Amino acid sequence: MASSGRGRVDQAVPLVSSTRLDSLTDRLTASGSTTREITAPATGEPLGTIPESTPKDVAEAVSTAREVQAGWADVPVGTRAQLIEQFADRVLDRREEFLDVLQAETGKSRQTALEELLDIQSTCEYVAANGPATIAEESRSPAIRWLSTATVTYEPVGVVGVISPWNYPLNLAMVDAIPALLAGNAVVLKPDEKTPYGALLLAELLEAAGLPEGLFQVVAGDGETVGGALIDHVGYVSFTGGTETGRKVAERAGRNLIDCSLELGGNNPLIVLDDADIEQAARGAVGACFPNMGQLCLSAERLYVEKSVYEAFVEAFISETEKLTLGVEHSFNSDLGSLIDEAQLTTVAAHVDDACTRGATVRTGGRARPDVGPYCYEPTILTDVASDSRVACEETFGPVVSVTPVDSEAEAIERANDSPYGLNASVWTGETARGERVARQIECGTVCVNDGFAVGWSATDAPMGGVGESGIGRRHGPEGIRRYTEPRTIAVSRVGPLGLPDRLPTSWVMAGFVGVTRLRRRMKRAIRSVRE
Ligand code: NDP
Repeated sequence: MASSGRGRVDQAVPLVSSTRLDSLTDRLTASGSTTREITAPATGEPLGTIPESTPKDVAEAVSTAREVQAGWADVPVGTRAQLIEQFADRVLDRREEFLDVLQAETGKSRQTALEELLDIQSTCEYVAANGPATIAEESRSPAIRWLSTATVTYEPVGVVGVISPWNYPLNLAMVDAIPALLAGNAVVLKPDEKTPYGALLLAELLEAAGLPEGLFQVVAGDGETVGGALIDHVGYVSFTGGTETGRKVAERAGRNLIDCSLELGGNNPLIVLDDADIEQAARGAVGACFPNMGQLCLSAERLYVEKSVYEAFVEAFISETEKLTLGVEHSFNSDLGSLIDEAQLTTVAAHVDDACTRGATVRTGGRARPDVGPYCYEPTILTDVASDSRVACEETFGPVVSVTPVDSEAEAIERANDSPYGLNASVWTGETARGERVARQIECGTVCVNDGFAVGWSATDAPMGGVGESGIGRRHGPEGIRRYTEPRTIAVSRVGPLGLPDRLPTSWVMAGFVGVTRLRRRMKRAIRSVRE
């Protein structure tokens, strides 16, 4: 068994001071006497203590947010867009602190933390540039042309609840919160209980950028209690997390008759076709599988490779993976950091053990690295994985992937689709048209050709989300902004009440209606045939 992921033990994060972290907690709406200790994954040591919110706190936070939201909705949308750009500037101004806090509470590499910062920039840029036009009122075809009008306005839903996860705690919170704010809503965020500090820093930066106090609030605590209470009070909920929790969120939102978007897990396939550039595919697969230690909903976990290039791909993939460096330091020297906690480490190790018990071969990695950090694990490539093993069927959410040979393109597509999930897929080929043809047959919300996921996720104008057990709803693009609005139709009659003329016999009216309808359809068909 080869060993990959050279360990580096320099300055273990965190560097951020406990006084600073304590000062951030002042922003929490939390009156309860219960507190929670937050752990730094890089060291396993306590990072700080935060007070927990009660359901009453959640109700109060939403009520205050609702009061502030009324004034915010009256602010011209162009001004709201400018304030969002100013927020993006503030994040850049405070980039070092942003990265410090993020690394401290997640244990991720500084490189991955930087990607979160950049992603917030592109979210803000897209939303500020395109949001105003996306929610501008529009004329629609009226009931009777010239005699009536139909106008649609996009009204904010009021207060949006965002429930965010720990893996990308800042950009996954902001990708949902920023479009909600642009659309004239207030936001109450419940971050994962493991990662509250970055959320509080964002609240500070939003206010520093000029957004009204109270418009963006943070509540903290256990998901069932605090997250559940939030769903009971808001007008819309955006959730990112696991599939089973997503079902509970959807049930509760359904009981309250509010809409929701759910971005859940994935067991994403990556296909290497026989005409792919193998060196490029191997490098690309590393970028598709291991960012953030594989704790990424879009990362690939199941690789299917056409037989004629299988051995060459596996060798190149192992070689590229073994170049990755593992470390919990405060610099850009390491590619990969720590897993989030002991539970995640246990899951990762259990998935590898289960695969091995069923006959899998560990080609690289396959071991924990407590010498680097208490929850560190080497990037791991498995082959000969039984189709009923956990890595094949479940989301590992860690740095573990399986590579399986397939006889044909058709088999690769069939194996890729053999999953209850459908979030993201990746196809590698030397021929773009072939890649697009394969992509159209894969049952996922996004399929990337000759890239893992970045080319899809970074296309901020294109919707992003899952099918099946990967969720419902879309973020990004116009879809990701309009979800936070209630369309209102304003219809005007220019001739008084519409209805059948009551001074003429009904048989005449009916004959007239049939005649006009037939004439109209004939004209439409004639115009269509001339155009074709
Ligand atoms: P969860 O789905 O439990 O947590 C996500 C968020 O939901 C957290 O803020 C959590 O709060 C909150 N939450 C938990 N229960 C409820 C509830 N009943 N009502 C409302 N909100 C709730 O994810 P886990 O951290 O437990 O991870 C489990 C698995 O989910 C991972 O192993 C991975 O497979 C997947 N996952 C997918 C993510 C993605 O990006 N799609 C992100 C994270 C996880 P709290 O934790 O504070 O209790």
